[in-house]
Amino acid sequence: MPHRILILGGTIEARQLAGRLAARPDVDLTLSLAGRTENPVAQQVPTRVGGFGGAEGLAAYLEGIKADLLIDATHPYAARISDNAAEAARLTGVPILALRRPGWERQQGDRWTEVNDAANAAVALGRTARRVFLALGRQDVGVFEAAAQHHYLLRSVDPVEPPLGVPHVDYLLARGPFDEADERRLLIEHGIDVIVSKNSGGEATYGKIAAARALGIEVVMIRRPVLPAVPSAAGILELLAMVDHSLRPVAERGV
Ligand code: NAP
Repeated sequence: MPHRILILGGTIEARQLAGRLAARPDVDLTLSLAGRTENPVAQQVPTRVGGFGGAEGLAAYLEGIKADLLIDATHPYAARISDNAAEAARLTGVPILALRRPGWERQQGDRWTEVNDAANAAVALGRTARRVFLALGRQDVGVFEAAAQHHYLLRSVDPVEPPLGVPHVDYLLARGPFDEADERRLLIEHGIDVIVSKNSGGEATYGKIAAARALGIEVVMIRRPVLPAVPSAAGILELLAMVDHSLRPVAERGV
């Protein structure tokens, strides 16, 4: 019988991991997406879309498919689904592994102001009008309506609906990855004074951070949320090795 694995996705790594596992004859894989993006990148693996209905809903789903393993490969700021995944694993006894992409480290020349959340980022922009690049998902930008004095550049995969309730905002529709040279051009073209970013980690969205450093631009960096402590790997290869270990019969792995 193939091993049934559910991957909670929504990241580049989840897509890559799903591709690797789906190619294995001993694995029966399902990738789960929240359904936030209107046209997600086409996936060559069986995919389901939409919430489960909290930790209990996810637990019921895991039992329904007789899952052997749950992999949380969601974005580091998707804390609710990671909490639900840990709780569902506890409720069902299904083993869980997480792919936890390391955050970016501050480098010499970086001008980061670290804050706890988007609302504090809006405050950290200050009272004087600035030109702000909001490099956040469209779900996170509503709180900047409280700081309507600034001129915003807002980049998102799908249109921001309803539009942000501030007088000055430019919208840019684009999907990463974004390289440093393009980000540098964008920052210069829009006369950006400050960027608001999550500490997402990885290469795909690091270009703006490197470009900000080179141009001496401030970055208001939203700190990572605390995620549940579950066995985790920083990269795909390490996680695949953990998957192998987890799926091996208990007698064979000697635990
Ligand atoms: P969240 O706040 O942690 O989760 C909110 C709810 O969305 C969850 O309770 C769950 O609904 C549903 N959900 C989230 N991820 C799911 C998945 N992979 N499959 C099925 N349902 C899921 O998540 P979020 O921050 O809104 O992020 C949503 C998705 O976008 C995640 O999959 C994440 O990997 C991806 N993403 C997020 C960010 C970010 O900055 N937050 C950035 C890039 C990609 P139920 O409780 O009903 O099950």
